[in-house]
Amino acid sequence: MALLEVKNLNVSFGAKHNAVPVLFDISFILHRRERIAIVGESGAGKSTLGFALVNLLSKPGHIHSGTVKLDGTNLTTLTSPQMQKIRGKRIAMIFQDPMVTLNPVITIGKQMVEAIRAHTSINRHDAKKIVLEKLAQVQIPAPDIRFDQYPHELSGGMRQRVIIATALLLTPDIIIADEPTTALDVTIQAEILELLKSMCEENNVALILITHDLGVVSRVAERTMVMYAGRIVEEGPTLEIINDPQHPYTQGLLNALPQMTLAGHKLNQIPGSMPSLSDRPNGCAFHPRCQYAIEKCQIKQPNYIYSGISTVACHVLEDMISETSSSDSAFLNDGKDVL
Ligand code: SF4
Repeated sequence: MALLEVKNLNVSFGAKHNAVPVLFDISFILHRRERIAIVGESGAGKSTLGFALVNLLSKPGHIHSGTVKLDGTNLTTLTSPQMQKIRGKRIAMIFQDPMVTLNPVITIGKQMVEAIRAHTSINRHDAKKIVLEKLAQVQIPAPDIRFDQYPHELSGGMRQRVIIATALLLTPDIIIADEPTTALDVTIQAEILELLKSMCEENNVALILITHDLGVVSRVAERTMVMYAGRIVEEGPTLEIINDPQHPYTQGLLNALPQMTLAGHKLNQIPGSMPSLSDRPNGCAFHPRCQYAIEKCQIKQPNYIYSGISTVACHVLEDMISETSSSDSAFLNDGKDVL
């Protein structure tokens, strides 16, 4: 059975009679110990999806329909206290800025001990032992000294290591990491991503990495979902998506990576910008920015189709695939006729 199964999840903002849909028909499966990435430009709805998975949407956001099942239990129907037990213990979250999670006026050790005691009956002495072990596991030098320090006494990279250690304290089933390296110095971003990956592997934790940077997913995630304007537009094995992107938006994201630009040339960019989720264009929301758009792209939302081993939502690709299969079958028919 899947560890996490998200089915036809729709999220809206606003009161019921004039609610604005912001996430559309999101469906995916996460297996135990699997690492997946959700990629897209800022405003694509990635973080909203992360919050919706743990029922933490800020009002007036709400789940309009669909299910989020953890080991078969539908999280969207749980009460607040029931959900609080799930968060931290079974699903932990890591945010972009460690200072959002860490309390600046409480020592690191005390915060971590309290995180354990909020979910278990472990005494302070044993909780401290677990904290020191986890700090050592994320390669914090001199954990016993760091234990008594305040967050501001640590560098940004060290604070994010503390956050990763905190997320692992109760050995959750899943960590949702929302842009965990964006606030960090470029030189240590790769280090922290590598640490996150290896910690998930060592502790048998599944990972959902939310990022705007398609360039980092191949280091971390086995599968990638590309989001545009609140909808998944392409999903498949990460290597397939990096090496042979099918959706024009994914192709644009890859082309915009600095490593795809020749030295001395301007960075490639996707023309235009992400629409606001409350002002989504009709049809395929990417059509105002898409060089391949045809008439029906402005009218009808594309369905999901299989292209190779990826799933993609694109009219033009669907037409190409059906043309190829009809010419294949015409060829087969020709063969029959000759025989
Ligand atoms: Fe472009 Fe049309 Fe495909 Fe959308 S459906 S990505 S507009 S070709």
